[in-house]
Amino acid sequence: MENKKCPAAKKCGGCQYQGIPYEEQLKQKQTKVRKLLEPFGKVKPIIGMENPYHYRNKVHAVFDRQKNGTIVSGVYQEGTHKVVPVTECLIEDQKADAIINDIRGLLKSFKIKVYNEDTRYGLLRHVLIRRGFASGEIMVVLVLASPILPSKNNFVKALLKLHPEITTVLINVNDKKTSMVLGEKETVIYGKGYIEDQLCGCRFRISAKSFYQVNPVQTEVLYGKAIELAGLTGEERVLDAYCGIGTIGMIAAKSAREVIGVELNKDAVRDAVRNAKLNGIKNIRFFQGDAGAFMRKMAMQKEKADVVFMDPPRSGSTEEFMESAVRLSPEKIVYISCNPETLARDLKYLTKKGYQMKEAWPVDMFGFTGHVETVVLLSRKLPGSHINVKVEFGEGRGKVPLKAISERTETYKPKERVKFLS
Ligand code: SAH
Repeated sequence: MENKKCPAAKKCGGCQYQGIPYEEQLKQKQTKVRKLLEPFGKVKPIIGMENPYHYRNKVHAVFDRQKNGTIVSGVYQEGTHKVVPVTECLIEDQKADAIINDIRGLLKSFKIKVYNEDTRYGLLRHVLIRRGFASGEIMVVLVLASPILPSKNNFVKALLKLHPEITTVLINVNDKKTSMVLGEKETVIYGKGYIEDQLCGCRFRISAKSFYQVNPVQTEVLYGKAIELAGLTGEERVLDAYCGIGTIGMIAAKSAREVIGVELNKDAVRDAVRNAKLNGIKNIRFFQGDAGAFMRKMAMQKEKADVVFMDPPRSGSTEEFMESAVRLSPEKIVYISCNPETLARDLKYLTKKGYQMKEAWPVDMFGFTGHVETVVLLSRKLPGSHINVKVEFGEGRGKVPLKAISERTETYKPKERVKFLS
């Protein structure tokens, strides 16, 4: 494979594997996962990308004014708040990079000042682009320090003239001294305020703040593997924990009896509920809240799950979640992880509590970076039998009324779905 060079490599620091041939990167990732997971079972060969360039469907740029007055956009230098100018990136979507460059070019004529983090003066802080690779839809989010964008209609018009492929533009207000990109408040100034994309034959609506995998090509590979490992027959009750906008659960719903999704982020849950409708999927319900607390309630109510998919953030899962998962005693747990270190930590717990790692598949979702995704199949050690785990709860904490769980999602769920766990 041709080895492309990145002009910002030395300063950006985003790609730890810059300059290393792709095949070699895969080898190193394989070795890393193997070292961490082989104590638990078999690690399969890593599934690499066919084309490791420009795979990112989500691109973020921070804006800054240099000492000589030049406006730049790019990334923070690692560990600092210094902006490294980036005009092209080997892993980002090229269309998104072109839009960011053109936004930079428009600022002067629209007299839009970029924000200065020290003086807290200026307007434009960041631009975030999301592109649906399958749908072609593009979202542009202008992150501003205050809510008013002068001549916003003309700005949008000028931007659309350069990029008619943009389908929605939003203003997000971030007036805090923070390293978070997006603030709370959001206004749609063009289009529907979200994009749609397709994965594994399902359509998904994606909001600015919802989590959506950044590499859709490999996501299909990853989800495909996760579903295959679950070996669904159509009879199962499936739990999709840390479900985001409901992707895995919805794909699983086609071959399961029933799916329950749980997710903390409100916007993502709202997307998930609408996504189920969009796809005409009726055997799925979503709950908003902490996955650990939710699982604990399920376990206390002696609920059942045959298969648990869990896809926690980089920090991994929690003991509360896993303890309850073990009490629910599903036949299979499919753990999808973007951090092999926390995965190994959690596997240590689960394998001590009656589960066995059957196989682990590393999947490369993030070429040129040091990150690696892994999907693991765990099976209950004694099929057909329940595992007795001693779990202690405080005095008087008996069965929690079912309402307690359903209340969390009332705002998001269509009426007929409010009743939970019949
Ligand atoms: N399965 C989804 C999302 C995975 S990312 C997908 O493949 O697209 C991890 C998700 O966990 C994020 O959506 C994040 O908002 C959510 N999350 C983080 N902490 C959580 C918690 N304590 N309880 C439930 N969800 C949580």
